Amino acid sequence: MTTARVVVGGAVFDQGRLLAARRSAPPELAGRWELPGGKLEPGETAEQALVRELREELGVEVEPLERVAGEWPLRPPFVLHVWTAKLVSGTVRALQDHDEVRWLTPDRVDEVDWLDEDRPAVAAAVRLLVGA
Ligand code: C5P
Repeated sequence: MTTARVVVGGAVFDQGRLLAARRSAPPELAGRWELPGGKLEPGETAEQALVRELREELGVEVEPLERVAGEWPLRPPFVLHVWTAKLVSGTVRALQDHDEVRWLTPDRVDEVDWLDEDRPAVAAAVRLLVGA
């Protein structure tokens, strides 16, 4: 059996809002929204990968806080793990892989067209955010 490979997604919160990013690539994912992040590189922890990916893709520094319980299947062999994170510095800009970003209040998270795989992860992250 192939070992699952982790893709880390960030549930980045700032002033009570959740960050959503719209993918610009690849074509089959373009236009759908995700918790930004990406694949772990060899030797990296999920937290390190999250910090690197958000720096590269969105130009911000974040601090990972806690893992959102759960694991969501992506295209094999990948699985999605999600960490909450807070914005430490910078202004979010779509630099790479995305073409739009949005900050969503918990009552409006359903207003964007999330990737199917991200929906349950977003719901779990929001429950954690609002303390439900
Ligand atoms: O961002 P990156 O291309 O490294 O992500 C690897 C794959 O993980 C993507 O092709 C996408 O299918 C998936 N992904 C996802 N949800 C996320 C982040 C990535 O489904 N929040």
